[in-house]
Amino acid sequence: MNQLNEHTMRPRDRVLAALAGKRVDRPAAICPTSIATVSLMERVDARFPAAHRDAELMTRLAETAWTEVGFDSIMPVFSVVQESAALGCTVDWGDQANWPTCTGQLATAARDIRIPADVLARPETRCVLDSIRELKRRWGDHVAIIGKTMGPWTLAYHVFGTQNFLLMTIDEPDEVKRSLDVLKELTVLFGQAQIDAGADLLTLPDHATGDLVSADYYREFLQEIHTELCERIPCPLILHICGATEDRMRYIRDTGFDGFHFDSKNDIRRSLEIMQDRCRLVGNINNPQTLYRGSVDQVRQEVRTAIAAGLTLIGPECALPLACPLENLRAIPETIQLDHTSDQTPGTGTG
Ligand SMILES: [Zn+2]
Repeated sequence: MNQLNEHTMRPRDRVLAALAGKRVDRPAAICPTSIATVSLMERVDARFPAAHRDAELMTRLAETAWTEVGFDSIMPVFSVVQESAALGCTVDWGDQANWPTCTGQLATAARDIRIPADVLARPETRCVLDSIRELKRRWGDHVAIIGKTMGPWTLAYHVFGTQNFLLMTIDEPDEVKRSLDVLKELTVLFGQAQIDAGADLLTLPDHATGDLVSADYYREFLQEIHTELCERIPCPLILHICGATEDRMRYIRDTGFDGFHFDSKNDIRRSLEIMQDRCRLVGNINNPQTLYRGSVDQVRQEVRTAIAAGLTLIGPECALPLACPLENLRAIPETIQLDHTSDQTPGTGTG
């Protein structure tokens, strides 16, 4: 029975097909950024901050996306500081309720930035590679394994300090370009290593966010580099930028990213129009109001709205708040499944 086959698509195939703009049996529930929460940490006894640097704990916590939550993907890189730590940035690794952050300043100019020859052998990067290898072994035939390599703009925040770097973009634009050119090599290196370890696709967060950086800045500093990264990293890529980004989506669309993980501050239908189906939109369930403070019904409602608007890759808009209730997170894949288990035509929503 054709219908039955369509409804038994493997999660991995569903994610990759949706990301390629191909037909899927139902929208994929996907986590391009972290969905680790305190309750998931407690369930499998794999907690922050140890889970950021211990491959076994990282693996155990990451696989809960599939085993406990029911997403179609697993993504083990919970923080945004792994490769910055490997570069030598000072990191406060936080605790169970707080994310790691880079503190201090590693460089004042491009010439200060050196990518160590053993950057992929440092504990913070090696742990990610070991975890992806193990996740691929455990789940890789069935579930999409997503890696994460930070873009040069975010790396520059960590290396220079966010405020310093943003000032540089005004005072020393050439120095900014030189710095991004150095840092993008780490994006490629870490991305390729994760592909070699078994990642099916990569999230590439590069926080040129709406409130910090204008659309013109995106075009001036990042569009060309992002285009180059899409050419050089040989797997499907999802760009992640938080905040209001509709004003830069036409530039993002032209880079070659397979997907763009976008924030609920953006209108879904308008965003889809801008993307013209050349780059798939991924997201954009609201974190603070809906997933963190809202009810299961509110999550269901928002998932249905997103699907009705035309999204085929559904998930939280950004890294999930660590105190998010598990039932709200579970409501994302549950709603998709509930709405697509009857014998309706695939893709027709709630029926
Ligand atoms: Zn974000």
